[in-house]
Amino acid sequence: MDYQKILQEIQEEVQELLHKGKVADYIPALAEVSPAQFAMSITLFDGTQFSIGSADTLFSIQSISKVYSFTMALQFYSKELYKRINIEPSGNPFNSLVQLEYENGKPRNPFINAGAINVTDSLISYYGNDNITYEQVLEFIRSISQDSSIDSNLVVSNSEMEHGHRNLALANLMKSFNNLDNDVYEVVQTYFKHCSVEMSTKMLSRSMLFLANSGVDPVSGVRHISTAQAKRINAVMLTCGHYDASGDFAFNVGLPGKSGVGGGIVAVVPNLMGISVWSPGLNEQGNSLVGTKALELFTTKTGISIF
Ligand code: GLU
Repeated sequence: MDYQKILQEIQEEVQELLHKGKVADYIPALAEVSPAQFAMSITLFDGTQFSIGSADTLFSIQSISKVYSFTMALQFYSKELYKRINIEPSGNPFNSLVQLEYENGKPRNPFINAGAINVTDSLISYYGNDNITYEQVLEFIRSISQDSSIDSNLVVSNSEMEHGHRNLALANLMKSFNNLDNDVYEVVQTYFKHCSVEMSTKMLSRSMLFLANSGVDPVSGVRHISTAQAKRINAVMLTCGHYDASGDFAFNVGLPGKSGVGGGIVAVVPNLMGISVWSPGLNEQGNSLVGTKALELFTTKTGISIF
C-alpha cells in the first residue's frame, strides 16, 4: 500500500477544517499554540515511518500520557488495580466531578482525569516518592519510543498547576472516599508533569508499537506487558480513549486510540502499525477536530480497522 500517497491525500482533504477547532485555553500555556498546524505519522513493525506535515514538531501530549501511566500501573498491580479504578466508558466530560461523587470516589476508567490521577497515585505508592515516579514514567516513555531526548515542558505543567482547581477537586474527592493514598498536591503535580511531556507524531506513533504487537516491541524485541494486558489496554482505548466522544471515535475511526487536549491522538492497528496525528484545534469534547477526521479518512481509504 502506498502510505505516503494516502497521507498526502489526507493532508489535502483536511486543509479546510484547520481553522474550525479551538485550542485548549483552560491551560494558559497551551492557549498560545497556533491552531492551523497538522502532522501525521505511521510506524510499521520494522521501524519504517511515513509522515506528512510538521511530524518533527514537539507538542504537549497531555492525556496521551494516561496510556503510559496505565500501562505501568498494570505492570505493577495487575488485576489489583481494578479495585480502585473501573474500566467502563464514562459518557461524561473528561474532568467531570458529578459521576465520581455518585460512584463513591471510584473513577469510571483510567483515561478520564480522575482515573489517571488515581493511577498516578498508585505509581507514587509503588515507587514511594513523587519525583522518582515522574522520572520513571518519563524513562518508560523514552524506552518505548526509543528516544532519550523526550522531556517535559515544566512551563506547561506549572501553568496547569496554577489553574488546576478542578483536578485538585477530583483528587480531594477521591481522598475523601479513601481512594487516594498520597498527598493531593504531590499526586496532581506529578500527573501534570506527565501530561506536559512533549513529543512529535513520529515519536508517538513509534511508542504505540508494543501495543500493536501484543505487548512486545517489534523492533527491540522487549516485552513490556503481557499479551492479555495489551488486549485490555487496547480495549480501554477503544471504549474510553475519547471521553464522551469515545463511541463516535470507534464508529468513525474503528481503532483503539487516545487523545490529548494538546491536539494529539495516538491509534493502534493491531499486528500492523502505530499511528499518531496532531492538530491543536479541538472539538467540543476536547479531542483534535482535524486529527479525528484524518484518522477517519485513513481507515476509510486504507480499509484498515479492527472491524
Ligand atoms: N492535563 C489535562 C487536564 O488534566 C489533560 C486533559 C486532556 O488531555 O484531555 O485537564
